[in-house]
Amino acid sequence: MVKLKQSNRLSNLPPYLFAKIDEMKRRVMEEGVDIIDLGIGDPDLPTPGHIIQRLYQAAQDPVNHRYASYNGLAKLREAISKWYERRFQVKLNPESEVLPLIGSKEGIGHAPLAFINEGDIVLVPDPGYPVYRAATLLAGGEPYFMPLRRENGFLPELNAISHEVARKAKMMFLNYPNNPTTATASKEFFQEVVRFAQKFNIIICHDAAYSEVTFDGYRAPSFLEVEGAKEVGIEFHSLSKTYNMTGWRIGFAVGNQEVLAALLRVKTNLDSGIFQAIQYAGIEALTVSVDETRKTVKIYQERRDTLVKSLKELGWQLIRPKATFYVWIPIPTGYTSMEFASTLLQKAGIVTTPGVGFGEHGEGFIRVALTVPEERIKEAVERIRTKMP
Ligand SMILES: *Cc1c(COP(=O)(O)O)cnc(C)c1O
Repeated sequence: MVKLKQSNRLSNLPPYLFAKIDEMKRRVMEEGVDIIDLGIGDPDLPTPGHIIQRLYQAAQDPVNHRYASYNGLAKLREAISKWYERRFQVKLNPESEVLPLIGSKEGIGHAPLAFINEGDIVLVPDPGYPVYRAATLLAGGEPYFMPLRRENGFLPELNAISHEVARKAKMMFLNYPNNPTTATASKEFFQEVVRFAQKFNIIICHDAAYSEVTFDGYRAPSFLEVEGAKEVGIEFHSLSKTYNMTGWRIGFAVGNQEVLAALLRVKTNLDSGIFQAIQYAGIEALTVSVDETRKTVKIYQERRDTLVKSLKELGWQLIRPKATFYVWIPIPTGYTSMEFASTLLQKAGIVTTPGVGFGEHGEGFIRVALTVPEERIKEAVERIRTKMP
C-alpha cells in the first residue's frame, strides 16, 4: 500500500462545515422523521419541456457525439451575446467577449488559476459562495475576506480595505443578487467597484447566477452596464437557476477579453468543452424561454410571500428578499447558527443552512431555500409554531 498524503493545497482547504448538518440529517431521517429540506439551493421544478426536446433531438445527431470545441459553438456564443444585449443593453463580441462554461462554478473555480501566484491576495465576500475561497486556495492565493454586514446592505465596504491589502490584491469576487444574503447591488455600487479596480489594478469577477430570479418587478443590473467595467472584469452567468438546469452543467462568462482568453487557456488544458447537444439546448433556453422563467420566478415569489408572512406572524424578524430563492433569517439570541439549525432539525425535522457555513460573518443567520412546494413551506411554519421552544 502506498502512503497517502494529500497535497498541502488540498489539506489547506477549510473543513466542509455542512458535513455536520448532513450527518445530523441522515440520523434524523433514519429515525423515520419526515424531513423538510430547506437546505439545498437547487430548483425543485423541472427543466422546461422544449429545452429537453431540443436536447433529445440534438443527442440523436452523431455530429454532436464528438469532442466539442474549447470555446463553444459559434451559435451558442451568438445566442449569449443576443440574450445579453436584450436583457442588459450591453453589446458583446461573440468571438472574444463570450466564453461558454461547464456551469458557472467551473469558470469560477478555474479563474484564479489564470492570474494568481503563490501568496497573491484575492478579495472574497464573507459570507459567500464557498467556491470563491476554495478556488483561491487551490490556486495558491490568499483569500482576504470582505465582511458583508447588514447595516451596509450586505455590500462590502471598499474603503475599509487597507491600501496595503488592495495593492497586493489581484482579483475580487462579488455576487449580486447575493447568495446567501439575498442582497442586491445598485449600478452606483458597481461604479464604485470599477473605480476601486482601476485604482488598484484588480480583476473583478462578478457572479450573476441569480440575475433572473428577481421579484416585485425588480430587475438586477449587470456589472457590465457600468462604464469601464469591461476594462476591469468579467461576469459569470448560469443557466442553472434561470431555467432549472442545475444538472445539465452549462453557464458562461462575459466581459474583458484578456481575462476570458486566459481563462480559456486554463480550460483548454483541463477540459474539452460542453457536450454539444447541451449547447443546442442552451441556445434553445436563451432564445425562447422567457415565459417559462417568468412562471418559475412567480412560483418562488409566492413561496417567499407565504414564508415571510407566516414567520412574521410568529414574531420573527425577516429580511424580505428582492431576489434569489433564499431567505436569510436572523436567528434568536442565545444560539449560534449551527445550534439553531440543529435545533430546527431535531425538534421540527427542518433542514436549513447555518450562516457560519458561508463564512464567519454569516454567524447570526440561517439560510432557507424556497426550493420546495408551498404546502411544505406551510407545514414547516406550522412545525415551527408548535414544536420550537
Ligand atoms: C448555484 C450557484 C452557482 C453555480 O451555478 P452553476 O452554473 O450550476 O455552476 C454559482 N454561484 C452562485 C452564487 C450560486 O448560488
